[in-house]
Amino acid sequence: MTHASRIAIAPLRGSVSDAEWRARLDLAACYRLCEQFGMSDMIYTHISARLPESPNHFLINPNGLLFGEITASSLLKVTLDGEVLYRPDLPYGLHPAGFTIHSALYRARPDAMAAMHTHTIAGMAVSALKCGLLPLTQTATRFYGRIAYHGFRGPERDPSERDSLARSVGEMNYCILRNHGLLTLGASVAEAFVAMWGLERACQAQLQAMACNTPLEIPNAEVVEKSCAMYAPGKSRTYGSLEWEGLLRRIDAVDPSWRE
Ligand SMILES: [Zn+2]
Repeated sequence: MTHASRIAIAPLRGSVSDAEWRARLDLAACYRLCEQFGMSDMIYTHISARLPESPNHFLINPNGLLFGEITASSLLKVTLDGEVLYRPDLPYGLHPAGFTIHSALYRARPDAMAAMHTHTIAGMAVSALKCGLLPLTQTATRFYGRIAYHGFRGPERDPSERDSLARSVGEMNYCILRNHGLLTLGASVAEAFVAMWGLERACQAQLQAMACNTPLEIPNAEVVEKSCAMYAPGKSRTYGSLEWEGLLRRIDAVDPSWRE
């Protein structure tokens, strides 16, 4: 399924720094992966990457391209104050809620280099459960005690929402936006994506287990803590480092136009 041939924009390769081009490639790949793994919501969510050479600038999608259409050259470059430094020749601009969420995160978290936000059915459903994400599965224990929750106050278009979101997220890398969806941060696009993959599956498994109308087996606290500790930052490799090349091969096999 090729979408990208339908958009014609100037290629940026060679006219931006190598570091920016690499960030563009990783982020465009992440949009394609989000689409291929069924985690997109047409044009209504956003994934971003901070530029390593200019930490006050980040890349994000132009509001109007489907995730399966996004290419490295089509991503907007914006400042943390909302100034659009680069926009491809398309009639699409910066999404207000996307800017609010991602600029809030990068302002508050100098360690965050990428942020991914989804509105999947499973993510929205768990975001609406008072109990939130339970440590029902090995996958879910990775997130035990590491998820922030942010209360729903309507679409994030008010600049004051930035402070509120930053306070809710704190030092966490994972956040459930109540009645809304999921959010992951990472030191790389790959890390944010692989975290979202796990969080999404943990949500799906919980919902299916809860739908069975039979008592749930929740591992005891000691086991949950032990399992969670194995996923602690620094304990094992960085998530995404081993998976990313394979994921890129997967999207290349379907449609390599994200590299344009
Ligand atoms: Zn959203």
